[in-house]
Amino acid sequence: YSGKKPVQSVADSMTGMKVRDFQSIPVVVAENISVYDAICHMFLEDVGTLFVVDSSSLLTGVLSRKDLLRTSLGNNELDKIPVHVIMTRMPNITYCDKQDTLLHVAKKMIDKQIDSLPVVTDNGVGLEVVGRITKTNITAAFLSLADDHEL
Ligand code: ADP
Repeated sequence: YSGKKPVQSVADSMTGMKVRDFQSIPVVVAENISVYDAICHMFLEDVGTLFVVDSSSLLTGVLSRKDLLRTSLGNNELDKIPVHVIMTRMPNITYCDKQDTLLHVAKKMIDKQIDSLPVVTDNGVGLEVVGRITKTNITAAFLSLADDHEL
């Protein structure tokens, strides 16, 4: 027994949670694929957010479910619109590093009202996408506190 109060011990666990321990595999698409193909990708890969990369595999954009829905409303030429026209683009992308704490990421998600962040490494030229952290990962981390502390 650590001698700590349970509340202190849960707080310590929370501050120790890192992105690298809870991140998922990212799903990326090229900038020139069509909105139609992006929608197919989102269903096939079963994710809520796609990350868009350029020909050097560097992060250039983010596509959410609502970005694709918005474009789909009243538009029947989805196969002719490239995703780079509708995506949220750099430098307006909120991202994180695998060393960041999950609390830091959770705060960014709430402050910016977004569901996920790309996990990136800066290679000097741009950002390489190495992971994805979503509200589901945060929920899993929350649940793991109950296991760790037998709550
Ligand atoms: P949805 O739009 O399906 O509700 P989000 O809440 O994640 O999903 O996205 C809201 C808006 O924020 C969208 O326009 C999306 O492109 C953008 N967005 C999503 N994730 C990020 C991010 N990590 N950085 C910047 N913008 C983002």
